[in-house]
Amino acid sequence: MPPVGDAVAAAKLWLIADAGARLPYLARGLYALVTVETHEVARLASDEHWRLYVNPDWVASTTVEDLARALSHELWHLLLDHAGRARSLGVDRATAGAWHEATDLAICDTLAPEGVVPADLVSAATELRAEHRGTLPPGRPAEEYWATLARLPAGDTSEPGEDAEDDGPAHHGSSVDGRPRPWELPPEADVGAVDEGHAGGIREVVAIEYRGRKGGRGDTPGEAARWVRRMTEPTLPWEQLLAQSVRRGVGWTSGRTHTTWTRPNRRASSTPGMFLPGWRRPNPTVAMVVDTSGSVDDALLARAMGEVEGALRALGVAGSSVTVLACDAAVQAVTRVRRARDAVLHGGGGTDLRVALAVVEDLRPRPTLAVVLTDGWTPWPATPPTGCAVVIALLTRRGEETPELPDWATTIRCQLDD
Ligand SMILES: [Zn+2]
Repeated sequence: MPPVGDAVAAAKLWLIADAGARLPYLARGLYALVTVETHEVARLASDEHWRLYVNPDWVASTTVEDLARALSHELWHLLLDHAGRARSLGVDRATAGAWHEATDLAICDTLAPEGVVPADLVSAATELRAEHRGTLPPGRPAEEYWATLARLPAGDTSEPGEDAEDDGPAHHGSSVDGRPRPWELPPEADVGAVDEGHAGGIREVVAIEYRGRKGGRGDTPGEAARWVRRMTEPTLPWEQLLAQSVRRGVGWTSGRTHTTWTRPNRRASSTPGMFLPGWRRPNPTVAMVVDTSGSVDDALLARAMGEVEGALRALGVAGSSVTVLACDAAVQAVTRVRRARDAVLHGGGGTDLRVALAVVEDLRPRPTLAVVLTDGWTPWPATPPTGCAVVIALLTRRGEETPELPDWATTIRCQLDD
């Protein structure tokens, strides 16, 4: 029989290289795995520290191809962070069986187009989907499958004795659900391990390479596509963040007014009525302050203004309750313009937004939200206008230095995509 290490190495090559499945994007993940030989597992299992537990007897009796398929199954549990996700869902001993079925369904959908889905995974998925006709459509997140499966009475969700920890060799480790098995090595065992930070880096590399390979082919399965997006675009697009903070600023997110949009500063506390519970401002008024200095990118400014106006429209904030101020500090003047896009026509010179925010302070009715569109290179006042939430749409270029910004405002960095 070949030593386990050689067999596992051959299986990795089969997955990556020309002779086999040609999935080179898996390389970083496969070579991070630490192989541990043990009879405690029936075939192959992994823990959440990226140790791959391999039964040498099974390896001796199986083919490189089947070992490789089982290996990719284990690797995807780790790549998709099923352990961490199980913890945040609160998967416990009672629902772990359903969670494993749910994650295997998602992995099955991911592996199928690659031609490396293990036979046992296919038959289990087919059986499960037939049994729950229509309620487990392909390409959905494991969380969704789990919600369906975990609701079923116990006993329906797993084969009797399946994966039972105290009953014969195990089929799965903590990589699936974050629950350590008695046969797993402790995290600090000197065989080696991948810690959370390193795992994040591996996932990112694999996701980027996976996306590169899948690019344009349109067959990226749902769960994997969502994972790639999560890994490669870890932050929401600025347009979405800007719209979100405008909604929050207006205070209408949940259909009721809340009092958190404004920092209770010294001046606000002298008007205590403002924070009485149940108090409601029927018509939010909004000020848009547009920095028209030459350093602001016109295209970006136009897009950011469009996003803000769109968010306000969606909230039903009438144009008449939006005041647009074009701030041109060269002449120390703040011009009230009819529409945001007219502000672009002014311009020139440096900026002093202290002047503009002083004008906001004096507006009647007093704005509940001020959205400031600027490159940030301006002096700021020490406090925001009274009773007014401030959102800064910071118009920047990639790699540009960030100016000092006031901590009483919510800042959204807006950039043009190259
Ligand atoms: Zn599995």
